[in-house]
Amino acid sequence: MLEVIKKSIRKGLGNFIGFVFFHLYGKHLLLQKLDETKILSIYFHNPSIEVFEMIIDWLVKHDFHIITLKEFQYTFDKKKCKHKRTVFISFDDAWQGNMELINVLKKYKVPITLFVAPKAIIDGQIWLNYVRKRFLQLSENITEGINVRDIKNLPFSRAVILYEAAKQIGGIKRSIMTKSQLLDFAKVASIGSHTVNHPILINCEDNIVLKEFNESERVLKSWGLYPNNSLAYPNGSYNKNTLILIGKTSYKYAFTTQPQFVELSDQISNLEIPRICIPDGFGKYENLARMSSVWTKIFKG
Ligand SMILES: [Zn+2]
Repeated sequence: MLEVIKKSIRKGLGNFIGFVFFHLYGKHLLLQKLDETKILSIYFHNPSIEVFEMIIDWLVKHDFHIITLKEFQYTFDKKKCKHKRTVFISFDDAWQGNMELINVLKKYKVPITLFVAPKAIIDGQIWLNYVRKRFLQLSENITEGINVRDIKNLPFSRAVILYEAAKQIGGIKRSIMTKSQLLDFAKVASIGSHTVNHPILINCEDNIVLKEFNESERVLKSWGLYPNNSLAYPNGSYNKNTLILIGKTSYKYAFTTQPQFVELSDQISNLEIPRICIPDGFGKYENLARMSSVWTKIFKG
């Protein structure tokens, strides 16, 4: 009950602050500053129909041209948009709740891109969420010296041990699409890779990182899906070494979670493309303030 009240206060307060900052700065950034030299790049995880439709409705009403992954690639390479206002919309992880958005996508004829980690499709879960939920039930000899907040920082080989043990306990329902749902969803979305297992790449050995890149492409292709030489780093986590390693693969476009507009200049790296997160549970004006990039400029998160 207390959690519900806390969440609702957070949402209301965020929306009020979002309203102020959106009208002071955000609207100007989105409607005046955005031009043919920039792409608005936003991404979602598991938004409600209301949150998603509100954003799409706002974009459509304000004359934004929503582009496919192929159009993004073409525009990125040309370094110039065809329209004054261009937006690229992506989703990470293939949450089952995304299936409910198909009608919105069809209604507005909106192209989106979905970054998929095949092992999460097979397991029905992202390992990190599963370990967090089952952490307190894991035996002490495998959790020794680990705090639940540290899971993201563990060497991936250790994280895998926790995940395998957590799966033995079981009892968590599928929250990621099944393969057959994914194949249905792919009829209304472009597909990109999100690695195989969704590891935190900076915690992995080089050979594992390369395997995650190459194997995800192979598995998606074996399912009849083409990852379009594109990948989103799981949890937005990467470093210089990750960039060297992905440079050795067939990926030509890699997406981060840096909350900025994509500035189409010679300086921008095709392996560090920004994306602004629209979180699942916030209100209209916080989302719009976040989309305009003004929110994270002020609050850093
Ligand atoms: Zn993810």
